[in-house]
Amino acid sequence: MVAARRSRLPAPSSKRVIADLRELAARTSNERGAQRVAWGPVWREARAWFADKVRADLGLDTHTDPAGNVWTTLPGASPRSVVLGSHLDSVPGGGWLDGVLGVVAGIEALRRHAAAGTPPVTLHLVDWADEEGARFGRSLAGSAASAGSLDAAKELAHLVDRNGVKLPDAMRENGVDIARMGEAHAYLEERSPAAYLELHIEQGPVLESMQKPVGVVLGTMGVKRHMVRFEGQAVHAGATPIPLRRDAFLAAAEFALACREIGLSFSGRSPRKRVVATCGVVKVEPGFVTAVPGATEISLDLRALDEKVLRKMQSAAEKAARAAAKHNGCTVAWSPLLTIAPRPFDPVLLGLCAEAVAEVAGDAPELPSGPLHDAAEMAAIMPTVMVFAQSSPGISHTRLEDTPIPHLDKSVRAFLRLVEKTVAHVAAADA
Ligand SMILES: [Zn+2]
Repeated sequence: MVAARRSRLPAPSSKRVIADLRELAARTSNERGAQRVAWGPVWREARAWFADKVRADLGLDTHTDPAGNVWTTLPGASPRSVVLGSHLDSVPGGGWLDGVLGVVAGIEALRRHAAAGTPPVTLHLVDWADEEGARFGRSLAGSAASAGSLDAAKELAHLVDRNGVKLPDAMRENGVDIARMGEAHAYLEERSPAAYLELHIEQGPVLESMQKPVGVVLGTMGVKRHMVRFEGQAVHAGATPIPLRRDAFLAAAEFALACREIGLSFSGRSPRKRVVATCGVVKVEPGFVTAVPGATEISLDLRALDEKVLRKMQSAAEKAARAAAKHNGCTVAWSPLLTIAPRPFDPVLLGLCAEAVAEVAGDAPELPSGPLHDAAEMAAIMPTVMVFAQSSPGISHTRLEDTPIPHLDKSVRAFLRLVEKTVAHVAAADA
C-alpha cells in the first residue's frame, strides 16, 4: 500500500448537491416531470451533464462498461474500492430525486474525498443503465449485468417498446452491444469492490409517518407474485338463486380479504418484520352485469425481508384460496409470475449506516425497502447498504415526488458520513 498524505475531510454539506439536483432537473424535465428515460435523448443529455460536472469539478473522465453503466473513479492509495451508485434514468414524468439523488450525492462524496488528498482506498461512482425499465419493461438491466445475474440474450433481446423499437437497437444507439453485456461483471470484479452504498428517496410513506428525515434500509424485500384463477359456473343473474351459484368473483373477493389479514398478521412490530400482501389485478369473466362470474383471475404480490416468512405467507395464502374456493363451490389454480429473493443488507455496513444517520439526524430509524433498487443486485455479490431520504408526500414516479429541503440536507450529510466511515472501514481491513 502506498502511504497517502491526507488532510482532514471538509465538513459534510448538501449545498452543492441540492444546487446540482436543481440544475439537472431544470435541464431534463418538462411540465410533466423528469424525462430521462433510459436509452433516449434526454437521458443522454443527463449523462453528458454528469460527465461535464465530474470533469470540471474533479478533473476525472467517465468510462462506460459493456452494459452501458457509467463509471467515475477517484483513485486511492489502494485499488480496493468502495462503490457508490444509483441511476440518472427516470420514468416518463418522474420526480426530481428518484435515482439522481444518489448519483449527485456521489459526486459530492468524490469532491469531498478529493479535497483531502488521496483517499486510502479507491472510490467508484456508477450511474447504472436503465434502472427503471420504463421503456422496455426490464428494470435493473445495468446493475444486473454487473452483478452477473442477467441473461441478456434470454431476458432482453426480444424486448420491444411501444413504437416497435427493439431494445438491442436502442442499446446500439448508445454504444452498447447486447451480446457483450455480460462482460460488465468482469469489469466490476476488476475494480476490487469491497462495499456498495446507495442513497435513494424512499418512494413510500413510512419515514414521513414516523416524522423522520432519513432512514437506514435493512434490505430489499423478496417478492412472490402469482395469478390465482378461481373457476365456478357462469349462470344467469336473474335465474339463479344465490345458494345455487358457484360465483368465482366472490371466491376471489374472499381470498383478497384473507390476503389482507395475512399481510397484517405476519407483520411484526419491528420494521424488519414488516410485510405486505397486495391483490392489484382482478379479471372477471364473462364480465356482464347480468351474469354470475364463472371465472376470476386475481393477482397476489407478497413481499417480506425474511425468506422463511415469505414462504409461510405463501402457504397461508394457498390455504385461504382453497377455503374461499370451497366456500363458493369453485376450483382454484396458481400460476407463478415472479419470484425475487430477499436481499438483507450487510450487518457491518448497517452498523456504520446507523451511526452515520444518528450523528446527523439524532436517531436512526430502520425500514425495509419494498421497491427493488440497484443495491439489491449489488447485495448479492458484496456487502451493501442503503440510506433512504424521506418522501413527502410519500409518493414517487410522479413529478409530485419530493423531499423537504431540511430532510434532503440531513439525508445527504448522513450519506456522506456513511461513505467516510465505509472508506475507513475498508482501509482498515485492507491494511
Ligand atoms: Zn430509483
